[in-house]
Amino acid sequence: MRLSKSFIKTLRDAPKDETAKSAGYLIRAGYIYKEMAGVYDYLPLGLKVIENIKSIVRDELNKIGGQEVLMSALQNPELWQKTDRWDDQKVDIWFKTALSAGGELGLAPTHEEPMTNMLKTYIKSYKDLPLAVYQFQTKFRNELRAKSGIMRTREFIMKDLYSFHTTEADLDRYYKEVEGAYARIYDRLGLGTDTHETFASGGVFSKYSHEYQTFIPVGEDTVYYNSDKSIVLNEEVLNDEVLSDLGVKREELQETRAAEVGNIFKLKFKYSEPLGLKISNENNEMQTVYMGCYGIGISRVMGVIAEKFCDDKGLVWPESIAPFKYYLAPIGEAGLAAAEKLYTGHEDEILFDDRNLRPGEKFADAELMGIPYRLVISDKTLAEDSAEITDRKTGETKLVKLSDILTR
Ligand code: ATP
Ligand code: MG
Repeated sequence: MRLSKSFIKTLRDAPKDETAKSAGYLIRAGYIYKEMAGVYDYLPLGLKVIENIKSIVRDELNKIGGQEVLMSALQNPELWQKTDRWDDQKVDIWFKTALSAGGELGLAPTHEEPMTNMLKTYIKSYKDLPLAVYQFQTKFRNELRAKSGIMRTREFIMKDLYSFHTTEADLDRYYKEVEGAYARIYDRLGLGTDTHETFASGGVFSKYSHEYQTFIPVGEDTVYYNSDKSIVLNEEVLNDEVLSDLGVKREELQETRAAEVGNIFKLKFKYSEPLGLKISNENNEMQTVYMGCYGIGISRVMGVIAEKFCDDKGLVWPESIAPFKYYLAPIGEAGLAAAEKLYTGHEDEILFDDRNLRPGEKFADAELMGIPYRLVISDKTLAEDSAEITDRKTGETKLVKLSDILTR
């Protein structure tokens, strides 16, 4: 991408009401645009980060047999009445809207109901199971308070996966597969060491669910962990029964702040029963389908990564999700000509600062945008047939031969 052609300009100031560092940087660097409290647009750089996160998630979910769909945001109240989740007293984050022909629709805060209902058309027998279906989809939640930039918004991108099984044992087996996939996903996103599977409250059909909590001071949740972090639990389940279940004493636990970046849940019959998702089993009897659901907050993950890795100069993206690998900043006419050559054929990897700006301005933007490697080509580096490469994370700089750069 050529910055001279891009409509994005970095901004000197972020909106005053943005308190999270990540939100300030994401806005100033031109990744996102704030429409109003809790509602953001994703601009070219921000969209690339979102797509890179989605690619990693998609890759790992496809490996465990996930089939991708895209369901509607508009929701039929009838389905949600069947599970008693339409009533605003029961679910207080609905956005609802009136139909001009009369009646109401909802904007989906999640998709258990439509997913379960849709599959009634296709799943008839145990031979159709197991099945895992997922999507990346925009959810709407009328959150009382939008907070921390894109970490808590009223419109956000979620990955939601749902699995369907004939037996509880098969649900348990698949749940473990998802745990494996999630561990790989957070590793690849650069959040592996600080993201922990965390005991959280369950529901009618299961004692616990698991959250994926990234330890970070701006996180909204309080979690407790033991010395080697092999046991992490949400404060909502910090009680004697749970401590004894986990075989850990209160004194052994420390407290910290964390952001929930994912959640996995054994639903069993919670939705399949009221919505009537049944199959004929091996004995030819009709039985209710076992279900699990597994979320990842894609846009929240972007905010958490931005927050976790930024420094006093701006964003610092892990290479796996950075919008571009290189920020190419030529200096002088000869530098620009050599940079043009380097750029050609590598447009997807290089953010090309071909603007007529002072080097200091280009360098400040490179740092604010957090592109992993800055390449500077000037008369001085060209004298050595080289470019200067600077690692955004460590600040280390060295000369690399031009012919070696894009083969790294
Ligand atoms: P929270 O407790 O943070 O409100 P939740 O438990 O209600 O989240 P889930 O229904 O489990 O959320 O949704 C799956 C994932 O979607 C969460 O783990 C989180 O990463 C993300 N998410 C939930 N609410 C929001 C929001 N308002 N803005 C951005 N991401 C969100
Ligand atoms: Mg949750």
